Amino acid sequence: MSVIVCSYGEIHLKGSNRGFFVRTLMKNIRQALPADVKTEVTDTRVVVSNFSDAKLIVNRLKKVFGLTSIRVCESINFNSPEEILNYLASVKINGTFKVVINRADKNFPIKSPIFAPQCGDVILKNNAQAKVDVQKPETIVQIEIRHNGVAYISTGLERGLGGLPVGVSGRAICLISGGIDSPVAAFLAMKRGLTVDFVHFTTPPYTSELALQKVVSLCKQVNSFGNSGKLYIVPFTEIGSQIQKCCHEEYTITLMRRFMVALSEKIGIEHNADCIITGENLAQVASQTIQGITTNNFVAKQLPILRPLICFDKDEIVHLAKQIETYQISILPYEDCCTVFVPSRPTIKPNLPTVLAEEEKLNFNLLIENCFQKVESREL
Ligand code: ATP
Ligand code: MG
Repeated sequence: MSVIVCSYGEIHLKGSNRGFFVRTLMKNIRQALPADVKTEVTDTRVVVSNFSDAKLIVNRLKKVFGLTSIRVCESINFNSPEEILNYLASVKINGTFKVVINRADKNFPIKSPIFAPQCGDVILKNNAQAKVDVQKPETIVQIEIRHNGVAYISTGLERGLGGLPVGVSGRAICLISGGIDSPVAAFLAMKRGLTVDFVHFTTPPYTSELALQKVVSLCKQVNSFGNSGKLYIVPFTEIGSQIQKCCHEEYTITLMRRFMVALSEKIGIEHNADCIITGENLAQVASQTIQGITTNNFVAKQLPILRPLICFDKDEIVHLAKQIETYQISILPYEDCCTVFVPSRPTIKPNLPTVLAEEEKLNFNLLIENCFQKVESREL
């Protein structure tokens, strides 16, 4: 019988919280897999059984945060070590290999350093092309000896995503723009265990339904790594127009960002967020100098702003975006709400007193309140 055996790295370290981490991981795994597939935790391994299409299950498990390795194994029942050796006679190996034994059942009569070479000998005898290489083997034959006379034997391994199960770290609200960066920022936040809701600012009629659909597709793609939250859509035309009409052109972007953060915080608080996430990246564009980013900080009063990409290089972000398959969606050529209002020369080093003086020209609270009333939410 085939089973899939997964390891879950960092969760081991969680001491008295380990139960909560493992329960959340198992909930996320069940959500990712078809309902009739069986899942259980035994001896610090997640064991998945009762499936017909192993490839499909492995591909789904590769998108679950918290898992570090995924192995398709043959599960065999044995009464004596010889029965394991008999099974190994049928294993086909071409090239270099090593045998790794994991003995969860300490009553198994042969210690691992003695049993591993015995297993290797059987493989060598039955595979003319096989050769042992303990340093850099092409194949690792992993033999997990579980309790009650069960062994899981595998010859291949897929790397899991690592990280922590989505949900163990709380909830975030992520400002998602339709660009390359913010979906990657959301992915990294989920990787450290945050459940992510998304907020997107639109400026109809300047931004189109297609631009919004693009953002929905991005959220869905990020969400395929863990069933996260909702998308909140914020009509931002009135605020953008007021800023453009009443404030100094140089400060348009700075002020827009502050309104976005204030609204995101308000939406976040209403939906139990613990933090705000943005895709900001130091010095990437004029509005993301340290001074520009700092002026956004002071507008959020209750929630911290996390910026997972702050010190990444753009090519590192693009590399990740390609890996998580958001890149192809992000580069679709639809206009973003900021480009509609973007001034020809934004201030590069805004200082807070000037920003506040510009903001004084507007009725900040009223604009926020009116806009907040028009927020729409969408399931993903
Ligand atoms: P991205 O690649 O994600 O678009 P960016 O490098 O283009 O980011 P900016 O346009 O300056 O940078 O935006 C900085 C951050 O502000 C974005 O990463 C995102 O978190 C947020 N943001 C910008 N525009 C919007 C929007 N229309 N809706 C929601 N959040 C936005
Ligand atoms: Mg961008």
